Amino acid sequence: MTTETTRGKRILLAAPRGYCAGVDRAVDAVEQALAHYGAPIYVRKEIVHNKYVVEALSRRGAIFVEETDEVPEGARVVFSAHGVSPAVHEQAAARGLDTIDATCPLVTKVHKQAVRFARDDYDIILVGHTGHEEVEGTQGEAPEHIQVVNGPHEVDQVQVRDPERVVWISQTTLSVDETMETVRLLRERFPALSDPPGEDICYATQNRQAAVKVIAPQVDLMIVVGSGNSSNSVRLKEVALDAGAGASHRVDFASEIDPAWLEGVRTVGVTSGASVPEILVREVIERLAEHGFEDVEEVRTATERITFSLPKNLRADLRGAAGEQGHDRRQPVADHTC
Ligand code: SF4
Repeated sequence: MTTETTRGKRILLAAPRGYCAGVDRAVDAVEQALAHYGAPIYVRKEIVHNKYVVEALSRRGAIFVEETDEVPEGARVVFSAHGVSPAVHEQAAARGLDTIDATCPLVTKVHKQAVRFARDDYDIILVGHTGHEEVEGTQGEAPEHIQVVNGPHEVDQVQVRDPERVVWISQTTLSVDETMETVRLLRERFPALSDPPGEDICYATQNRQAAVKVIAPQVDLMIVVGSGNSSNSVRLKEVALDAGAGASHRVDFASEIDPAWLEGVRTVGVTSGASVPEILVREVIERLAEHGFEDVEEVRTATERITFSLPKNLRADLRGAAGEQGHDRRQPVADHTC
């Protein structure tokens, strides 16, 4: 029912939002492994950075560990979407673990760039966040050649052997604008700085940020659904504020919405990070409806059709078990470069 106090209250719902192809594949890999091999299935690190997803998979028999030495010898372990360094692969092999590598193909693409530039003896500047699993994995591909730069404020500290032989690459989930500023400053210091062959910030990160930029100037408040350790979710909150949202809050669950945030608010923007299942967004919308925000308008700025096939060895086992009639429900696709 529309009343004087609810009239004009509306939600602008960003699209694309939520699951990207890499997250969908990684979560599916754990689900299919549980169904096919049975519990427990060990997972190194959070399969994707989302509390709800990790708790749901734990209830079904996934055991999340920090390192492979916590996995019993000979057991099966899934590597997360964020990727692992070669050292982790070696540790797993030394323990005789059966591995399912759910590293997103777009992260693998960055790993390959690192290997190639290291082989050509470049100094590689990895723009990314120290301590993030993806950055640790990429850095581990060529630790002698890679230095991490967290943002524009660290550009002054970069030291290279030969300013004519420097290249930058990046984490896949950064703020596009901040990364471009970091690169601009790097290029001021090293005019011969080479670019990576393709964009490292992935299509999903870029699309979610672009949608938020369109909505943000129109909203008093932007709610970003996503976990605190999800890089791309945290970036969405920052992008919303930079693009003109009156305020922005990140929540894991609808129950975290503080009614005080909604005082005097007429338009709320809603989006979600690339590791967030849609059910959590639906719950946020229901919660906002309780506060009079019943009018929901989706603002779509791109349509995504990318899917990734399951990890090869899992796909082969599923096919083998299904025999003649069996198919992985995903069709293998070529690696995408976005
Ligand atoms: S955010 Fe991008 S790089 Fe990360 S899993 Fe999703 S598609 Fe892959």
